[in-house]
Amino acid sequence: MAIAYPYDGVLYLAPTRRCTLACTFCPKQHGRWTVAGNDLRWDLEPSADELFDAAQALEPARFRQVAFVGLGEPTLRLAVVLEVGRRLRAAGHQVRLVTDGLACLREGRDVTGELASAFDEVHVSLNAPDGETYAELCPNQYGAAAHAAACDFIRTAKQHVPVVATVVAAPGLDLPACRQLAESLGVPLRERPWFDPRLGEPHESSA
Ligand code: SF4
Repeated sequence: MAIAYPYDGVLYLAPTRRCTLACTFCPKQHGRWTVAGNDLRWDLEPSADELFDAAQALEPARFRQVAFVGLGEPTLRLAVVLEVGRRLRAAGHQVRLVTDGLACLREGRDVTGELASAFDEVHVSLNAPDGETYAELCPNQYGAAAHAAACDFIRTAKQHVPVVATVVAAPGLDLPACRQLAESLGVPLRERPWFDPRLGEPHESSA
């Protein structure tokens, strides 16, 4: 079972398997926990030192970037990912956070100012063009309000660090409306291909 693994020139770190969302397009909602050949279904959550050491063992200098990702929401362990991100950046590595953009909502405070010291860029899951669709695609305890919170996160975070919004091109999703929303938020949109989550393993699931 892996907490750090390479994929396509990027070194990925998985600080938790917990999520705020239960995305219908996510393979783990269908019992599939393998990403790029790595089983991410571990129970214990790594400490900052364990995460850093796991990255070091794979020699991050060999990769173009280190990315905090799932199968889980990295900012559920905000202090850990901030610490490890800062240490990796201090060692000269490019670091990206892949997130649901709900950290401010969960924490009850604006955490976006803390991101710039730990990450070179942040990818935020926009998931949908509106709150209702978001809540359908990504059931969560906040319902449609989570979408507004993710949009607020993007608006605030981009003042501190480069932000990219992402969507999974799920069947029936109004992609032009997603593009329009990203444009109105002032960030680029990265459209990720949809895979049948019952069969496949779309990567970077946390965004
Ligand atoms: S897609 Fe990401 S945020 Fe959604 S359930 Fe899967 S791991 Fe969690």
